[in-house]
Amino acid sequence: MIRANENYRKLKASYLFSDIARRVEQFQKDNPDTRVIRLGIGDVTRALPPAVIAAFHKGVDDMAADATFRGYGPEQGYAFLREKIAAHDFQARGADIAADEIFVSDGAKCDTGNFQELFAEDIRVAMPDPVYPVYLDTNVMAGRTGEFVDGRYENIVYMDCIKENRFLPQLPETPVDLIYLCFPNNPTGTCATKQDLADWVAYAIENKALILFDAAYESFVRDDALPRTIYEIEGARKVAVEFRSFSKTAGFTGTRCGYTVVPRDCQVFLSSGDAVSLHGLWNRRQSTKFNGVSYPVQKAAQAIYTTEGQAQISELVAGYLGNADIIRKTMADLNFDCVGGDNSPYIWVDGQGRDSWEFFDLLLHNAGVVCTPGGGFGRCGNPYIRISAFNSRDNVIEAMARLKEALK
Ligand code: PLP
Repeated sequence: MIRANENYRKLKASYLFSDIARRVEQFQKDNPDTRVIRLGIGDVTRALPPAVIAAFHKGVDDMAADATFRGYGPEQGYAFLREKIAAHDFQARGADIAADEIFVSDGAKCDTGNFQELFAEDIRVAMPDPVYPVYLDTNVMAGRTGEFVDGRYENIVYMDCIKENRFLPQLPETPVDLIYLCFPNNPTGTCATKQDLADWVAYAIENKALILFDAAYESFVRDDALPRTIYEIEGARKVAVEFRSFSKTAGFTGTRCGYTVVPRDCQVFLSSGDAVSLHGLWNRRQSTKFNGVSYPVQKAAQAIYTTEGQAQISELVAGYLGNADIIRKTMADLNFDCVGGDNSPYIWVDGQGRDSWEFFDLLLHNAGVVCTPGGGFGRCGNPYIRISAFNSRDNVIEAMARLKEALK
């Protein structure tokens, strides 16, 4: 008898964004004349930058001639891309990361989801609440949790991110082995300081723990005092893996490319206490289960690091940050407390006691604007909604005008 992985039964019945889609579809059916503006799901709306497109085309042309054709590439990514990433994203910022510590992938969702495979089933896992659901659900699938009770899975150490702690996870009181951190944060839009990260690195070193640091929104950081990578922190090479994505940086959500940094100094431990190289384990995992990102896509990603590419993506990100600014100012003018939106594309808005789905429905029904209910990201997300800056300037301006009317 073929038996199912029963851990899947513990997953909450429906995924946040399918719930949203269902409600929006119903609203649209009932109100066919309303043009719905989507500031919910964090998908980019602007085209790939010209330098990226030109390199993408060139990559496709290379595939059309025997002399330049590429078949299977290295599972870890082509050296031409890994070298650019190491030099530009890390070494230029004083972070000591080598090209062979970069693993190019088809995005941070897969990598943040897959990475937990490398660890024992009975490790203690710490998760922020609210959280990007992929970290949590993949640990549920792997059998690291108990049942879902009162909005939380048993056996997970939740780190409440609430107003009182500036929405920043605090060091857990019970020891943990694996810590998920995400800065700039999805969904709250908050950023950790160098000191915050230094405290986590010290904790991980002391407890022989590992930090999985998701920096998918790194390119939105504008404040020079904030860290752009966890490897700016001394000691992080020993205890931190960093995930990056070109999705929001350069419009690759549909093109798919990102990377994961696994420093050679990171170790994990056997039950005997002997250390094993994490780099070796991830390399083995990727070589076995992954066959690399397509050559034209990696050529396209490489173009991000050219002078034109840099200027173009910086303009792209600045456009979304301009939207974020408009959203945050509007919500503040309407007397809502908000965080995020300054070094991040997300604005986390306090619903002033409303249930987050109720707040979501209010915006949808009274303004035709779609946001994301904070409760979908965890129990602590409940009084909040997340508004995303990923849309055109015109749509953001119109959405804010409608909210002013609906919420005044
Ligand atoms: N990590 C976070 C925190 C995200 O919000 C997202 C996408 O929304 C991802 C990872 C996934 O990025 P990618 O498109 O590279 O899979």
